[in-house]
Amino acid sequence: MAYNKPIPTPSSLTQPFFDGAKEGKLMLPRCQDCNRVHWYPRHICPFCHSDSIGWIEGSGEGRVHTFAVQYRAFGGWGQEAPFVTAYIDLNEGDRMLTVLRGVDANDPGSIRIGSRVRVEFEQASEDISIAFWRVVEE
Ligand SMILES: [Zn+2]
Repeated sequence: MAYNKPIPTPSSLTQPFFDGAKEGKLMLPRCQDCNRVHWYPRHICPFCHSDSIGWIEGSGEGRVHTFAVQYRAFGGWGQEAPFVTAYIDLNEGDRMLTVLRGVDANDPGSIRIGSRVRVEFEQASEDISIAFWRVVEE
């Protein structure tokens, strides 16, 4: 089935992320002065205001920080509702918003904050792969 949800257009700021995603790698921006990872990509470090930003390959692992069940959505996402969105605490630091996979949106009581998650990528177009996170067993 063709990918039927919005597809991001990379900018010079986000291109390294999408280059990595295409190869199944989670690329994360990291300040070269304070060494902290931040998400989303920015020209200036949100922690120390340095403009010296590099990229690292992340572990692709993290934990569920919090989540919400989405019962209504537009476009292609409407066909997937209900689904679960979550903030992921990245192992490298900071948080990433995602659609969480491997959980039952119809049984939100079964979803656990702190659950281990691993990133996966879904090819949306020839050049764009989208990062999603999936709950993995402890
Ligand atoms: Zn910094």
